Amino acid sequence: MTAPRLEIALGAITGNTRALVDLLSAKGIHVTGVTKAALADPAVASAMLAGGAVGLGDSRIENLSRLRAAGLPGPRSLIRSPMVSQVVEVVREADLSLNTEPAVLEALAVAALEQGREHGVILMVELGDLREGLAPVDVMDVAKMVAKRPGLSLLGLGTNLACQCGVVPDQAKMDELTRLVEQVEQACGVVLPLVSGGNSANLDWALAAERPGRVNNLRLGEAILLGTEPLHRRPIDGLRTDAVTLVAEVIEAQVKPAQPWGELAQGAFGGPAPRRGSGLLRQAILAIGRQDVDPDGLRPPPGMGVLGMSSDHLVLDVGDHDVAVGAELRFGLDYSALLRAMTSPFVARVFL
Ligand SMILES: *Cc1c(COP(=O)(O)O)cnc(C)c1O
Repeated sequence: MTAPRLEIALGAITGNTRALVDLLSAKGIHVTGVTKAALADPAVASAMLAGGAVGLGDSRIENLSRLRAAGLPGPRSLIRSPMVSQVVEVVREADLSLNTEPAVLEALAVAALEQGREHGVILMVELGDLREGLAPVDVMDVAKMVAKRPGLSLLGLGTNLACQCGVVPDQAKMDELTRLVEQVEQACGVVLPLVSGGNSANLDWALAAERPGRVNNLRLGEAILLGTEPLHRRPIDGLRTDAVTLVAEVIEAQVKPAQPWGELAQGAFGGPAPRRGSGLLRQAILAIGRQDVDPDGLRPPPGMGVLGMSSDHLVLDVGDHDVAVGAELRFGLDYSALLRAMTSPFVARVFL
């Protein structure tokens, strides 16, 4: 079979989505399946929908377009603030988007009216992680503008924590979001049907939450695909962590000295790869490199260790294993490794 390849167990992705949907529905929270780490692969997106996701979200227009072309149902959300240069495509490809900039909202309204559509708007609120978001004091004015503006439909508020500075989405942050929702509803005389509390990093809070407040949506990618929560990268009970694995092929398997010889300077990617021990070790080279995956996010098979990775070569200490040239080895992935492998044109995808 072709290598390197990602083996994707669609049943596990559906099962992970279903488990999260069931746990969260008890709190009145529904799930938007985030497809960006899967390059919006339609098979992966369908597996999320089959597991009960109420819609799909992605950060890239190209990916949303792919979902639309595949005819997948459910609202499509653009989860990165739109580029003002792309508003025509945003309105065409997304039913709603997450926004923070009045000038972009105005451009979206113009594009929506031109296309005879109404574009859904979630206003993102800055609650301390310092990526996207309007300051809470500015939310009211922008909400009033959106609520009045033909072409736009104010659907709700949202926030995103943990991604930039690692700020934990906790009860205090979610209470603040709920308070803002209530203030906007009073000031604008509207009901906000959608309050999107965050990403997979919200799960620790959400699964334990006694007061979800008005939060009724989470945008989940990592937890569905990897079965882990991102704050401590712990497995989530009842979810599979092996839905996606990476398979690569051995192109050299030889016994080599543990230590290099000659004068040492930098390697291709910074300092020389640290090598421990003395004597000899069994070393394997696999035909996969930094163009294909993030070496720091690879989990090699038990008893093996990563010695280094350059553009096209992964060097492994295979320990006591008898690895032959032509053999295939299987790796677990973290979010960063998954993202890179999914977006590499050199890595094939096989659905199980
Ligand atoms: C990537 C992203 C998500 C999904 O994050 P996961 O950690 O994969 O669940 C949600 N919201 C926004 C705004 C994002 O950029």
